[in-house]
Amino acid sequence: MKNESLLRSMIKQHCPSCRSEKMFVSKAYNRKFNLMHHRCPNCNQALEPEPGFYTGAMYVSYGFQVAIIVGVILCAKIFAVNASVLWYIRWIAGIIMLLFPIIYRLSRSIWAHILIPFDN
Ligand SMILES: [Zn+2]
Repeated sequence: MKNESLLRSMIKQHCPSCRSEKMFVSKAYNRKFNLMHHRCPNCNQALEPEPGFYTGAMYVSYGFQVAIIVGVILCAKIFAVNASVLWYIRWIAGIIMLLFPIIYRLSRSIWAHILIPFDN
């Protein structure tokens, strides 16, 4: 897996430095979905180099959530749903809550891949 592409590594949530080991300890839909390895088991890269490193991942997460909001609004317009504001809130909140573990992990992965350089 040495030649894994940047996009594939981000989506599979692999270490940004070696792109071969997973950043997270368990699977997304698990009670411990947010636990990360402190260091990569393969290359020993610190996966949280400093406290608050993943604060910026909030902006990535925000981008995903805006995309979900736009997607729900577009779907309602395309399928001509005569929807109330409450309908939008329920659908958007439901989808975001359902996808929360995936959004959380993907946002951290993207953030780490932006800031930690690839070292083959
Ligand atoms: Zn690594």
